[in-house]
Amino acid sequence: MKSDMHRNCPVCGAENSINERKNFTDIVTPEGYTAIKTGPLNGHFCSKCEEGFLDRESEKLFDKQIAEEKARQDSRRVTASEITDVDSVVKKINVSRQRVHKMMEEGKLPYVFIGERRYPVKNQKIFDELRKKVRTQALLKNKNAVKKK
Ligand SMILES: [Zn+2]
Repeated sequence: MKSDMHRNCPVCGAENSINERKNFTDIVTPEGYTAIKTGPLNGHFCSKCEEGFLDRESEKLFDKQIAEEKARQDSRRVTASEITDVDSVVKKINVSRQRVHKMMEEGKLPYVFIGERRYPVKNQKIFDELRKKVRTQALLKNKNAVKKK
């Protein structure tokens, strides 16, 4: 086990300090929100500095749970004029409806719940950023496609 470099912490450099943690819950309090419970999560954490890394699946779950609970809390205070619908965002960012739903799920696009339906929060700055990102990814894809030929 001593030869296993992964057990050394890449953040603080402590040796043999990384331990696997399974099925734990975490409580996070984003600014402007009340505490959000997440989990069950899996990951690897340093016993010295407590820095940690969630597994890919847990990271996804974590982001989803935070986004969803933020949306629930925001639903109580956001007014109708502050939200928009998925179709408008589809036009604004120029992506598919599926992609917009995925962005909400991944916590990239803030939203609220009305009943069980999700409505994106109007935020031109975030729309612009997402559109830029989508465009960059499309360009990279094209570049790679050209290279392959
Ligand atoms: Zn550490």
